[in-house]
Amino acid sequence: MGTLVYSKIENKFSPTLPHPHWGETGADRWSDWVWQQQNRVRTLDQLAEVFHLTAGEVSATKETRQVFQFAVTPYYLSLMDPENPDCPIRRQAIPQPGELKILPQELLDPSKEDSMTPAPGIVHRYPDRALLYTTHHCAVYCRFCTRKRKVSDPESAMTIDDLGAGIAYIKKNSAIREVVVSGGDALSNSDDRLNEILTRLYEIEHLEIIRIGSRNLVTLPFRITDKLASILAKFQPLFFHTHFNHPKECTREALEACARLVDRGIPINNHTVLLRGVNDSVEVMRELNLKLLMMRIKPYYLYQCDQVFGNSDFRTTIKKGLEIMQGLRGWSSGLAVPQYVVDTPGGGKVPLLPNYVRSMDETKAVLTNYRGNDYEYYFPPS
Ligand SMILES: *Cc1c(COP(=O)(O)O)cnc(C)c1O
Ligand code: SF4
Repeated sequence: MGTLVYSKIENKFSPTLPHPHWGETGADRWSDWVWQQQNRVRTLDQLAEVFHLTAGEVSATKETRQVFQFAVTPYYLSLMDPENPDCPIRRQAIPQPGELKILPQELLDPSKEDSMTPAPGIVHRYPDRALLYTTHHCAVYCRFCTRKRKVSDPESAMTIDDLGAGIAYIKKNSAIREVVVSGGDALSNSDDRLNEILTRLYEIEHLEIIRIGSRNLVTLPFRITDKLASILAKFQPLFFHTHFNHPKECTREALEACARLVDRGIPINNHTVLLRGVNDSVEVMRELNLKLLMMRIKPYYLYQCDQVFGNSDFRTTIKKGLEIMQGLRGWSSGLAVPQYVVDTPGGGKVPLLPNYVRSMDETKAVLTNYRGNDYEYYFPPS
């Protein structure tokens, strides 16, 4: 794997140990992404061989089978604490009984994407950018996924014709300046298919920016080979958007995978989903965002967890999110402060901030700083 020039921070990122379950072969091939992909744990029996499950995990893994597929890479599994069912990594990927509980307000399609789909795979909500769904696969299926209705469902697979129609839509809409190549996980496409998609997008005159959406930096960092990074680097300006939720995911392997992208001039932004019992505290969030900065990842959005069916155990109040934002702003580098957003049902993302305006009239505003002290700001006479 790539050498790091910044040995200063290297020791803050521990390498994962190959999981003993896969024996010598696993140890030899641990950093081979194809091996990781082929050896994903996908059934209850396999999972029970690797570690001791709680009764709830056993029943949930069986009963959620029809609803949302289960899969986890040996790498991501090795980050889990086998002794602790509340482990933040385990909660994200191993089914829990709460998933079967569906509240009346919880939706199949919480952002109403399907009503904004003018062509196969396209979600066109904002004037100058569109999302292109390219695959229904992911290395690991996150239990709180907002696209559970589509992701892992073979019926939502994008054929070559579908992709052609999606790309044709972008081509004929000259207002689209940016495309988010998404899924599923954009890096579940083969190198060749990804190269083909990006090449066709890149030929579109009015398209200025390409954004790649992938959680592989977190779930399968070995996927970011030098070859893949070189393919991506051909399509500049290109931004890589990823999804770290917990500091335990910031491993040496992830750090090195980031370096392969950033060293080629590809900036990385992060989306974190606020998850109850996983990262809903100021301490965890501060540590996560500071670690991301060391990996040269910019914390971009902190998402309120969507009202997806079966997500109630993962969701928090908005008050909790505002409290966390208040604990970040001012207390750690502004670089480490994401924007907190709620993806509303149908209206797109709405940014939220704790209230720093104590009062405001024609002459002045009274503003509260991060320590809760008030300061006056006087306006010029009109
Ligand atoms: C989130 C999203 C985008 C990108 O939004 P930004 O605020 O630019 O990050 C684009 N299209 C859709 C459909 C989205 O949900
Ligand atoms: S990687 Fe993204 S699309 Fe895939 S399961 Fe996780 S949240 Fe859903």
